Amino acid sequence: MAKQVLVTGGAGFLGSHLCERLLNDGCEVICADNFYTGDKSNILPLMDNHRFELMRHDVTFPLYVEVDEIYNLACPASPVHYQIDPVQTTKTSVHGAINMLGLAKRVRARILQASTSEVYGDPSVHPQPESYWGNVNPIGIRSCYDEGKRCAETLFFDYHRQYGVDIRVARIFNTYGPRMHPNDGRVVSNFIVQALRGEDITIYGDGRQTRSFQYVDDLIEGMVRMMATPADFPGPINIGNPEEYTIKQLAELVIELTGSASKLVARPLPQDDPRQRRPDIGLARQVLKWEPTVNVRVGLQRTIDYFRTIV
Ligand code: NAD
Ligand code: UDP
Ligand code: UDP
Repeated sequence: MAKQVLVTGGAGFLGSHLCERLLNDGCEVICADNFYTGDKSNILPLMDNHRFELMRHDVTFPLYVEVDEIYNLACPASPVHYQIDPVQTTKTSVHGAINMLGLAKRVRARILQASTSEVYGDPSVHPQPESYWGNVNPIGIRSCYDEGKRCAETLFFDYHRQYGVDIRVARIFNTYGPRMHPNDGRVVSNFIVQALRGEDITIYGDGRQTRSFQYVDDLIEGMVRMMATPADFPGPINIGNPEEYTIKQLAELVIELTGSASKLVARPLPQDDPRQRRPDIGLARQVLKWEPTVNVRVGLQRTIDYFRTIV
C-alpha cells in the first residue's frame, strides 16, 4: 500500500514542492493548510492527482487523520508575514506542534518538524553547528517566530523522550526558488521583483549582513532523506547551503543575472536582524549523505525565470 503522508502548510512555497515530490515518489498526500500565506495556485497542478487531497485546516485545532508520516511545515515564514499577527504565529508553532505530535503519538507516525536557522538568533558562533544554543532575544519583534520554533523543538524532543514519538527536527536555512510569494518581503523575492520591474533595490542597513541561500530542490531532497533515515536519529540537523553572501553581493548578482538597470538604495535595518548566518552541514553530509547540488547562480536564474512569468 502507498505510504500515507500528511504535509501541514502544504499550500505554501516549500510545502507545495514537498507535496509534488512525495506524489512523484508514489505516496498518498494529505495537504492541510489554512491559506494564511499559502495559495491554492501553488498546488493547482496537483489537484488532478487522485493520490492528493487538500484540507482547509488550521493546525492550532486538533486534526484526526490516519497517516504514516507527518511533515509539519505550517507557519508563516517571512518576517513581514509572521509579524502581522505575532500571537497567531506563536500559537501556530506551539499549539500546532502539540496537535501534530498528539496525532503522531496516536497513530504512531514518524513526524518531521520544519525548524529554522532562526533558532540560532543573531549567532555569535560562525558557521553554526547544531550544538550551538543560539543567541535569541525573547521579547523582540522576531521572537514570535524564533521562540515559537524553539518551543516547538522542545515539544518535539519531550514527546520523543516522554512518549517515544519518532521525531525528526530539520533546521532549515534561507531557502528560495519558484513559488516564493512575490510580496512576502523576503530578500530573494524582493530583489528579483524589484529588478524585473526596474524599481530600486532596497538594501536594509549597510548590506554587509550575510545569509546563505539554498535552492528549494536541495532542501526537499534533504528533508525526504531525513524522514527516511532508518536509525533512531531525531536530529536536529542543519539543512542549508554554506555558500555565504552579503546582502549587497546578492543584490549585485540579481542585477547581473536579470540585466536590470535598477539602483541599490539604503533602507533602515529592521530590529534584531541577524548579522551573519551560515550552516555547518557536516552532520547532514555524514548522516544523510546529503549536500546542496544547485549553486546560487543556477538557482537564482531558475527563480528569475519563474518570476518573469508572474510579475
Ligand atoms: P510559506 O509562508 O510559503 O508557507 C507556510 C504555509 O503554512 C502556508 O501555506 C500557510 O498558509 C500555512 N499556514 C500558516 N499558518 C497555518 C496554520 N495555523 N494552519 C495551517 N496552515 C498554516 O513559507 P515557507 O517558506 O514555505 O515555509 C514553510 C515552513 O518552513 C515554515 O514552517 C517555515 O518556518 C519553515 N522554514 C522556511 C524557510 C525558508 O527559507 N523558506 C527557512 C526556515 C524554515
Ligand atoms: N490530537 C490531534 N489528533 C490526534 C490526537 C491528538 O489533533 O489524532 C491533539 C489533541 O488536540 C491533543 C493534542 O493533540 O490535545 C496533544 O495530544 P496528547 O495525546 O499529547 O495529549 P492530550 O490528548 O492528553 O491533550
Ligand atoms: N533584506 C534587505 N532588503 C529586502 C529584504 C530583506 O536588505 O528588501 C535583508 C534583511 O534585512 C536580512 C536579509 O535581507 O538581513 C534576509 O532577509 P529575509 O527577510 O529574506 O530573511 P531572514 O532575515 O529571516 O533571514
